[in-house]
Amino acid sequence: MKKNIASLKAVALAAAVFCAMPQAHAANANEEATKRHFAALVATGKEPKLAELTMFFTLMPKGGDLHHHYSGAIYAEQYLQWVDKEGYCVNKSNYQIDTSKTLTKEEQAKPLAERACLSGVDTLQDNTFLANLLQRWSDKDFYNHSAIQSPPDRQFFDTFAYFNPVASTNAVDGLQRLKQRAVQENVSYIETIYEIAPIAQDADFDKKALSTGVTDTDFAALSAKLEKDQAFQGWIGSYLKNVDTVSVGLDDANFTLRYQPFALRFLSPSQVYSQIVSSFKLATSNPKIVGVNIVGQESVHVSMRDYALHMQMFKFLKSKYPQVKLALHAGELSLGMVEPEGLTFHIKDAIEVAGASRIGHGMDIAHESNPLAIMKKMRDQKIPVEVNLSSNDFILGIKDQAHPVTLFRKYGVPYVLSTDDAGVSRNNLSGEYVLYAARYQPDYAEVKKLSYDSIRYSFLADADKQRLLKALDGKFTKFEADIAGAVAQSKR
Ligand SMILES: [Zn+2]
Repeated sequence: MKKNIASLKAVALAAAVFCAMPQAHAANANEEATKRHFAALVATGKEPKLAELTMFFTLMPKGGDLHHHYSGAIYAEQYLQWVDKEGYCVNKSNYQIDTSKTLTKEEQAKPLAERACLSGVDTLQDNTFLANLLQRWSDKDFYNHSAIQSPPDRQFFDTFAYFNPVASTNAVDGLQRLKQRAVQENVSYIETIYEIAPIAQDADFDKKALSTGVTDTDFAALSAKLEKDQAFQGWIGSYLKNVDTVSVGLDDANFTLRYQPFALRFLSPSQVYSQIVSSFKLATSNPKIVGVNIVGQESVHVSMRDYALHMQMFKFLKSKYPQVKLALHAGELSLGMVEPEGLTFHIKDAIEVAGASRIGHGMDIAHESNPLAIMKKMRDQKIPVEVNLSSNDFILGIKDQAHPVTLFRKYGVPYVLSTDDAGVSRNNLSGEYVLYAARYQPDYAEVKKLSYDSIRYSFLADADKQRLLKALDGKFTKFEADIAGAVAQSKR
């Protein structure tokens, strides 16, 4: 009897294998067709087929976007709608949002030309004013025409001050919009650098930090003070509540969102320290907050002056909360932007002192004191770089063969493609893949790996990661079948 059952099982197994084989064969054939098709789009020595690449990458499942600033991801057109929702208007002389609610009914009754401040909808309908506004609220048209302009790095970072008055208050709407956009372009996960972490200032700490310097003892003392600071603790509580509120209805079978709080690196030492403290606390208090970050223009005076100090702060707090993951902006610098010594240690310190699990940008790697040793460490310890091609081109003027992604590729440093600030750059993740493919002619296996890596290197909990990777398998099977079908169709 036992033998019979065994042989029946063997027959059933053989039948199952037999049935599965044609399917597996078809999937393989589809992948091969996709590989050949993609190779033709980026063939060396030929002009890259940008329209075809754009369609290819819009359709291709792209896993996650791991370097994504919430407020920088929203397009200006959305912000203008929120201007009206809040009852604000846009000052016609300086393009700033006027939050004093001066756009009364009497004011609105005046002809447009006579108003000092325009509503969002009137701004959207005034083509010339809108075009001028977009040159301030984003990078749009920066290279299109000659005008008196700020340098590109200032242009980029200055945009945030324009739309900040309406960014945080409309997060429920904003995140839903970002979700729809992500699903539309086949992105299943966003790890967004969300809101500024709760902050406090301590004049004595700042004075000491900038004179004799501060140590772990001072960090511990300020931490103890912050524990008793009710306003600071209250802010942490509100942040946690806010994350729960804005997350309602966001996660589903097609999309997952997680958050990172951030410290601003150009603030005073106590302000930065308090923000790192609150970030660590947030990341241990809500599973949706999966890591911490430090952001802001790295090349400005205070960011450069205090860089090493900030890494010490992270080191101290990481020793208290070893489970918290760090994705730190590090090395978003280029030669000439700061003194050469400033280019020699930021990535190394972010990894070796602060304990970063991911590096944002990593653009000055070639100038570091020992780039080969750092890249080996990043390869061995699987510490990826979040590569933001559009943003790096605009802010730092680095692209093509000057971009260090060429070094990361050559030396086996893991990396992922991400958007940084798609609303400011007016790009999307598919566009970043198009840029990458057009510039560096990867094969299909490489871009497919980039998509999977953007989930593998995410800070998602293991079960979520496995769920998203499995879903990605299914999405790629469908994508490759569609591409194989399209290839056959184009030959008819
Ligand atoms: Zn960034």
